[in-house]
Amino acid sequence: MRAARRVECFRESVIREMTRLAEQYGAINLAQGFPDFSPPARLLEALEQASKLPLNHQYSITWGSPRLRRALADHLVPFLGRQLDPDSELTITCGATEGIVAAVMAVVDPGDVVVIMEPFYENYVPATLLVGGRPRFLTLHAPDFRWDPQELHRACRGARALIVNTPHNPTGRVFTLEEIEQLAEVVQRYGLICITDETYQHIVYDDRRHLSPARVEALRDSTIVVGSFSKTYSVTGWRVGYVAAPPALTEAVRRVHDFLTVAAPNPLQEAISTALRWGADYYQWLRSLYQRNRDLLVDGLHSIGLKCNVPEGAYYLLCDVTSWGFEDDTEAAKYLIRRAGVATVPGSSFYHRSDAGRRFVRFAFCKQESTLRRVIEGLQAVSLQA
Ligand code: GLN
Repeated sequence: MRAARRVECFRESVIREMTRLAEQYGAINLAQGFPDFSPPARLLEALEQASKLPLNHQYSITWGSPRLRRALADHLVPFLGRQLDPDSELTITCGATEGIVAAVMAVVDPGDVVVIMEPFYENYVPATLLVGGRPRFLTLHAPDFRWDPQELHRACRGARALIVNTPHNPTGRVFTLEEIEQLAEVVQRYGLICITDETYQHIVYDDRRHLSPARVEALRDSTIVVGSFSKTYSVTGWRVGYVAAPPALTEAVRRVHDFLTVAAPNPLQEAISTALRWGADYYQWLRSLYQRNRDLLVDGLHSIGLKCNVPEGAYYLLCDVTSWGFEDDTEAAKYLIRRAGVATVPGSSFYHRSDAGRRFVRFAFCKQESTLRRVIEGLQAVSLQA
């Protein structure tokens, strides 16, 4: 049996492959970005309440529960600088993953160029290839993971869409106002659609602010924001995310969503609608938890002679394994799983050329403090033997 060509031009997710390896070796999973602690108790109570209503167990309205869309429209005001219309500008999807695929399918035709910043979160490339689009890569140059403004222009000229991700996975960059303005300029100049993945919008450090390109007045009609509740409420298994876009783009996204998944899980949508009404203290708690974790892991890696970047947001960091004598990221990741009992993701899976990213492995630090302490002990033990 021959599979369609569109599924033969990309490989399986390396992040999820590393999760399977972690389970096989009984290693601590710092590969896939999911918390190892319970979601907030009040969210689970809201889920229990929602599950008692018989109708909640049937399809929600295809575009998402009205209660959730209304709460989300209010929640997004500080991020987007305006009140979205829940009826024509918001669609609830099965995770940001579906949101990205639906957004790309909605605006990219076969042969269109899609600009992807690299290192990239691995989903953007298959999403582009599945619709017959052509990925074009814009490098975020190590060690500070910034683009060269001239390369930005060169990449975007003649393209159809630009995929932005801020806070950024895997580098932890939070793009500055100046950078967002540079993006806005090229999006306007070359008439692009901007698809911006803001899954980590609440997870920023050192008093930084998350800035969405959708806030720029001139980009309002050409920006599709993709978001998720997975990371904000520690429920990555629920698979609930959203797409926020002006009415014309929302209509296009909804046509895809309607036939791709019909609707996101209904009881989970109802529970999340209550969480969106929580006060600022919850988000402060979340940020300070992850900032403590970031500092613990960065200090731990430094203490054993491993270099890494200090993320500005999201919950990943890239560790330079050449400082430990490895020449290859996959070899380093396998060694760490077997010898230190720690699963990471080889850096090359975030780059389109397999030789790029070879100096890095990615650590996810969305774990309990005790888990991270065990990771550092495991690394220290192998560093002493090395
Ligand atoms: N976003 C998470 C990560 O980067 C989870 C990936 C996934 O399996 N969808 O690890």
